[in-house]
Amino acid sequence: MSESLSIRAGVPGAMIKTEGKAHASKKCGAKTRDGDPCKNWAMTNGRCRMHGGKSTGAKTLEGRERIRKARTKHGRYSAEAIENRRLFRAFLHYTNDLIAKITDDMGLG
Ligand SMILES: [Zn+2]
Repeated sequence: MSESLSIRAGVPGAMIKTEGKAHASKKCGAKTRDGDPCKNWAMTNGRCRMHGGKSTGAKTLEGRERIRKARTKHGRYSAEAIENRRLFRAFLHYTNDLIAKITDDMGLG
């Protein structure tokens, strides 16, 4: 094992390196400027040193909120939007059942 590897061993966020088995190590996979997935070795958080592998993440509430806003595209899958769809579907089922019952009672069905 080389000296640089032994120094890094046990350090949080160190590279996942399987010596002599480069094909077996996990790849970063981040989208590069060419649009292809990054082929560098991933660190323990799944990204290479150039794509956030060294980052320990946002710590302040403002920082976390800023990331949340930057990553939200349309909010279609937010908890609020999902709950609104669920309620609307329940409302549609209820009204459909009601209409069926009324037309049945009136002998129109
Ligand atoms: Zn990368």
